[in-house]
Amino acid sequence: MSLLIDQPASFVRVSTLSAHSPATLNGTRRLIDAYGRHISDLRISVTDRCNFRCVYCMPEEGMQWLDRDTILSFDEIERLARIGVELGIEEVRLTGGEPTLRPDLPELVARLSRLPLRSLSLTTNGFLLRRLARPLAEAGLKRINVSLDTLQHDRFHQIARRHGLDEVLGGLEELERYPSISPIKINVVAMRDFTEAEVVAFARLARRKPYVIRFIEFMPLDADGNWQRERVLSGPEIKAIIERDFMPLVPVAAEPSSTSRRFTFPDGLGEVGFINPVSQPFCGTCNRIRLTADGQVRTCLFSIDEWDLRSPLRTGASDAQLAGILLEAVSHKELKHKINEGEAFQRASRSMSQIGG
Ligand code: SAM
Ligand code: SF4
Repeated sequence: MSLLIDQPASFVRVSTLSAHSPATLNGTRRLIDAYGRHISDLRISVTDRCNFRCVYCMPEEGMQWLDRDTILSFDEIERLARIGVELGIEEVRLTGGEPTLRPDLPELVARLSRLPLRSLSLTTNGFLLRRLARPLAEAGLKRINVSLDTLQHDRFHQIARRHGLDEVLGGLEELERYPSISPIKINVVAMRDFTEAEVVAFARLARRKPYVIRFIEFMPLDADGNWQRERVLSGPEIKAIIERDFMPLVPVAAEPSSTSRRFTFPDGLGEVGFINPVSQPFCGTCNRIRLTADGQVRTCLFSIDEWDLRSPLRTGASDAQLAGILLEAVSHKELKHKINEGEAFQRASRSMSQIGG
């Protein structure tokens, strides 16, 4: 059963459309939340659809898709991104669903690359990268995360419920031809009784190829609602496997807002990282907000509430009014997630593929 099919729609907060906000920095309005966190990272989902059905993300069947006319156009996305940049957004990541399914994705990348951003990146399952790596590089994509949970064909099908390992590995190879996209990161969602067997193989891959391998703890954002704490294989456990069975790790300095604890090997060759939202939450330095494919702002992956930008966008709101909604949403950003707080934890109002991870 999919949680998401049965659950009520999330609560949409309607902003008062105020163009005034107390969040100012040197007289300029900035996205700063009630806890003083500067929001500089905007994740934009460009579709909720996907060509995989990863067990930790989507149900095998029965997913309810957004109506196509609710999906933001490139003009709308570009406008909101520009307003975000004026409020202090420095990094934009395109995601989904599977973002490469969105027709003409390179055109959107080209448009966003004209904004004064520090980083423009993409998170993808990599299935279509053999064809898209070049147009994405030419359009100005700067960084990429490719999700890959196993290096074995049968296990790939077990996780993604689709075949595609050769396509993803081929896509990664193709990416290597475009050094303007760097670094190439691989996201591995770690699940107990599954991932342990390949931890060392991934560590070896990090040394053999120019890929940063990052292990991500399984979060309760799966549409099937099958998440259980016992299924989380924590970052510290994975690190212990690498150090016991392979080689010691040496810490690498990371930016304060980095979600990843970064490590290299004693000879400096290769990098692995651990993203530990469950065992070692990093909410205190969170600098992210998300825009769903249907134009709702979410201030946390685990948000229950959303802030509607689509309706005002489509009914003539000014840039100042849209900025006002973003400022107001950010002023309500959650302090932290409550995964570790027992009964106090409430599942997010949408699952990962509908939010844009
Ligand atoms: N389809 C693209 C992909 O798979 O990379 C982009 C969207 S996907 C929702 C974004 C990231 O979220 C992927 O790295 C995926 O592995 C991760 N993810 C999905 N469900 C997750 C979960 N329940 N816990 C942790 N990470 C998850
Ligand atoms: Fe699709 Fe990405 Fe979710 Fe897998 S993790 S089902 S590839 S959106």
